[in-house]
Amino acid sequence: MFCPKCKSEFVKGMTICPECNETLVQKLPENKFVEFVKLCESPNPSMTAIIKSILDSVDIQYFVRGENMQTLFGGCLEFTNPRLSRVEFLVSKEDKETALELIKEIEPDEDQ
Ligand SMILES: [Zn+2]
Repeated sequence: MFCPKCKSEFVKGMTICPECNETLVQKLPENKFVEFVKLCESPNPSMTAIIKSILDSVDIQYFVRGENMQTLFGGCLEFTNPRLSRVEFLVSKEDKETALELIKEIEPDEDQ
């Protein structure tokens, strides 16, 4: 039995990792599949830079996907300037909540 979190192996009979309180699994997945989900959109390069630096500072892995993508969720920061090229930030599902909390602090650019 293995702990999915700390990857420790345990003897049969144990069901929970005493370290992490995680339910043990029979087998660790070979390659952990990380699902990336949309975090938010950035309407301009300066915002993009800010979001990047925030995500970098907390070691959240992210992808930036550029332009031409339809807005599915309306943009979490209520960016409202469609004239400028947008980019989308994608983070792993696990990190999304954390990342959202962090970027909430950013004030969206006022429409100039
Ligand atoms: Zn563990």
